[in-house]
Amino acid sequence: MAALWEDVLRDEPAIREAAAVAVDAALLEGVLMRTEGEPNASDVVNYAPFTLLPSAVPSALFEQAYAVQQDFNLLVDAISQNKEFLESTLASTVKADDFTARLFRIHMQVLEEGLAQSVFLGINRSDYMFDCGVDGTPALKQIEINTIAASFGGLTSRTVAVHGQVLKVLGKPKEASRLLPNNPSKGLALGIAKAWELYGSQSAVVMFLVEEVQRNIFDQRCVEKELWNRNIRVIRKRFRDVFERGSLDDAKRLYVDGQEVAVVYYREGYVPKNYDQQNWEARLLLERSRAVKCPDIATQLAGTKKVQQELSRPGTLERLLPGRAEAIARIRATFAGLYSLDMGEEGDKIAATAIADPDRFVLKPQREGGGNNLYGEELRQVLEKIRDSPERTSYILMDKIKPQPAVNYLLRAHSPLQASECISELGIFGVYVRQGKEMVMNKAAGHLLRTKAVEHADGGVAAGVAVLDTPYVV
Ligand code: ADP
Ligand code: MG
Repeated sequence: MAALWEDVLRDEPAIREAAAVAVDAALLEGVLMRTEGEPNASDVVNYAPFTLLPSAVPSALFEQAYAVQQDFNLLVDAISQNKEFLESTLASTVKADDFTARLFRIHMQVLEEGLAQSVFLGINRSDYMFDCGVDGTPALKQIEINTIAASFGGLTSRTVAVHGQVLKVLGKPKEASRLLPNNPSKGLALGIAKAWELYGSQSAVVMFLVEEVQRNIFDQRCVEKELWNRNIRVIRKRFRDVFERGSLDDAKRLYVDGQEVAVVYYREGYVPKNYDQQNWEARLLLERSRAVKCPDIATQLAGTKKVQQELSRPGTLERLLPGRAEAIARIRATFAGLYSLDMGEEGDKIAATAIADPDRFVLKPQREGGGNNLYGEELRQVLEKIRDSPERTSYILMDKIKPQPAVNYLLRAHSPLQASECISELGIFGVYVRQGKEMVMNKAAGHLLRTKAVEHADGGVAAGVAVLDTPYVV
């Protein structure tokens, strides 16, 4: 795998030429982001960071990741409907983690009041790395599943053309023709459109709930465009707008700025910094409404690290997906070792093991968005400090996945061109729609490959660590 583009990688003039073409192609194709300096204006934009070359992905693992996606859709949906499972799984976490506790309180309040929502839309992205076993055979191991605001389904559809042109510039037209087409934003929009249609009001809109800082707007615009193409009206609002100008009518229909909202698509609301008191109130209002929330709060909770860890316990998948032995086997095959740090003997033991051998593990809090996990010496220090305190239950431990690095060039605005040892993370987008008890759509909608230099243990594209890539399936 490491030797995929060996013949051109050290040819510096060729690489320079290809990089210049690549950057212009990215701008031309719309692989764009707003700048750090002007995150809310499109007057000055730049290309989103990406690899010069596509990265090798073993075909068996690529197919395996696609094949398990509908199973994961079913699983996430089943968890979101299982009050007892969420309650017991998150019981220790909500005591130690205020953010999860607040989400959980809204979840309980909405259930007590009775769900007004009857159409459910899930958009998730299951992320994997290729763990290199002792014999060198790579295995597909899930890093996590994102059930809220899974991004880059738009921009990633545009990297294929860029990498195709780069390969041609480098004298590899045959390889260029082997790159797979990929358009997650289309699949995402199909799900949103289906939910909008089932909601059943021609004049109602789809509301993208967006952050105050909107650097990644072009990624979202890709999905918006697909909806406008279907004559579905899209509006973009922040929590603040909902707080100030949102309301429910007697039937719990949601109105924002006088427009009825059929679908709320969250690209916001997944980390504590997204919320002040007013935003929490806006979130509650949205959750109480009959609008289709993507995701509803139960589905957001289904994506917590704590839930992920509990899924790996023997018997849990069987309880959640009764009678689906094959789906369970496919799901379980992707699990890495996951460990609870709940108070008690089991937690004491794994904490001691991790303190003695921190490089085997990753310590994860209940956070999203990259840059929150702890590794190596830092993991050891933090765990040592909290090992006897209930604070440790806000974390989980996970086996560290160790992929085989490959050389690539990471193209980033204002950065020098240099070769890096890199590892990649493959994400598969899943989309499903449920009406009452009936699944009316369940699909894999495309993929995302993100690549980062090996010296960064953590972090995604938005966190400024990983860059967009295109799989070269081998
Ligand atoms: P977040 O919700 O912040 O994205 P993730 O669980 O996806 O949290 O972790 C962030 C990043 O940390 C991943 O993209 C990956 O690079 C790295 N990472 C997470 N878990 C592991 C693991 N078990 N082994 C190796 N790297 C990991
Ligand atoms: Mg992640």
